[in-house]
Amino acid sequence: MNKNQLQQHDREHLLHPFTDFHDLGQQGTRVITSAEGAYITDIDGHQMLDGMSGLWCCNLGYSRREITEAIYEQLNKLPFYNSFFQCTTVPAIELADLLSEVTPAHMNNVFFTGSGSEANDTNLRIIRRYWDLKEQPEKRIVISRLNGYHGSTIGGASLGGMSGMHKQFQKLDYIEHIQQPYWFGEGGDMSPEEFGVYAARCLEEKILQLGPENVAAFIAEPIQGAGGVIIPPETYWPEVKKILDHYDILFVMDEVIFGFGRTGQWFGADYYGVKPDLMTFAKAVTNGYFPLGGTMVSDRVAEVIKSKGGEFTHGYTYSAHPAACAAGLATLNILRDEKIIDNVREVTAPYLAKRWAELADHPIVGEARSLGLVGALELVKDKGSRARFDDKCTAGGVCRDLSIKNGLVMRATGDTMIIAPPLIITTAQVDELVEKAHRALDDTARALA
Ligand SMILES: *Cc1c(COP(=O)(O)O)cnc(C)c1O
Repeated sequence: MNKNQLQQHDREHLLHPFTDFHDLGQQGTRVITSAEGAYITDIDGHQMLDGMSGLWCCNLGYSRREITEAIYEQLNKLPFYNSFFQCTTVPAIELADLLSEVTPAHMNNVFFTGSGSEANDTNLRIIRRYWDLKEQPEKRIVISRLNGYHGSTIGGASLGGMSGMHKQFQKLDYIEHIQQPYWFGEGGDMSPEEFGVYAARCLEEKILQLGPENVAAFIAEPIQGAGGVIIPPETYWPEVKKILDHYDILFVMDEVIFGFGRTGQWFGADYYGVKPDLMTFAKAVTNGYFPLGGTMVSDRVAEVIKSKGGEFTHGYTYSAHPAACAAGLATLNILRDEKIIDNVREVTAPYLAKRWAELADHPIVGEARSLGLVGALELVKDKGSRARFDDKCTAGGVCRDLSIKNGLVMRATGDTMIIAPPLIITTAQVDELVEKAHRALDDTARALA
């Protein structure tokens, strides 16, 4: 099929995730056909620096044959077997071992799933099981944050704080949402430090309002990814940590984006010095090459759910899929053996921070923030008042399209442009990324004038 035919068949038969089907039908899809290193190429031969690592997953880029071969070899040896009914497979055990090693010291058990959404559903099941076994069944409510993202199953989407999603289904009623730590958008006249403490205290206020005896858990991403790379003020996590330590509630860190090196530490929990009871992972664990997710379970929780008898009535056909685990093993071995995370922390993240900050001088940029290998630009019409170009935040979409035209994949969340390039990006490629982003901003300013 040629490009037009492919787009025609796509329009007729393929329903895309998070998509306005009608609009997409009019515009036609971009057909991506190949990738190499940090670059992707479409069917027209247009090459783009992939500033989003696929969808926050291809942290090692697209050319790691070791992962492909590990999957291939495993598929030839034992393409599938389940881990129900007293059975297990070698790659599943080896990956569980390796995860116990690279995750924080107090986390030594893993429950595998096929995705991040399924892992957050698993968390809901573990949380309830834990409090039931502790004979505190009244602890039911899970607190989450507005504009957080925790996946798209009913459980994941209920935990998430995306109002557009909640409008389209019935949210689970035992989940409550609080203020997000988004200083640029919601900080008003407070300094970032004041606002960080304020946003953290919203958690305490909610706990007290619901009664700590009714609160089972708090879930959060270290930095909100899909919400627009919302990096909390420095005062936020230390204050949240104090609150979490004070009340007897479980803490779930959703590391689906920030796990495996994106901050320059193995996990967001390491970066912020917090101690989760459960830790969701997915995406980069296999470098995006094979679907795999899971949740790391702390010793505190594992002790209860493992030592008390009774079946945990939960699991998926593809929990601990051997080929997925082989992909995970190959990926984590590369991350560790090639010291990729050290290089992010010591070389590329500081370099990106310096170059990305220069974009704050652009006339339509209200803020340029970055941490590790993520970055965001707030597009504004007026820097002083932070006024957007319009109420519907359409500038982001314009900028995204112009960025792609300029050979850089950036994503738009409303009028916030975001990047999360592969961890293997070089400093020369960071220069290329920033130059292309600058050009996209110039073109956007011209298009919106
Ligand atoms: C992507 C994402 C999920 C959901 O993962 P899926 O594999 O798409 O189900 C959950 N949490 C966060 C923070 C994510 O970014």
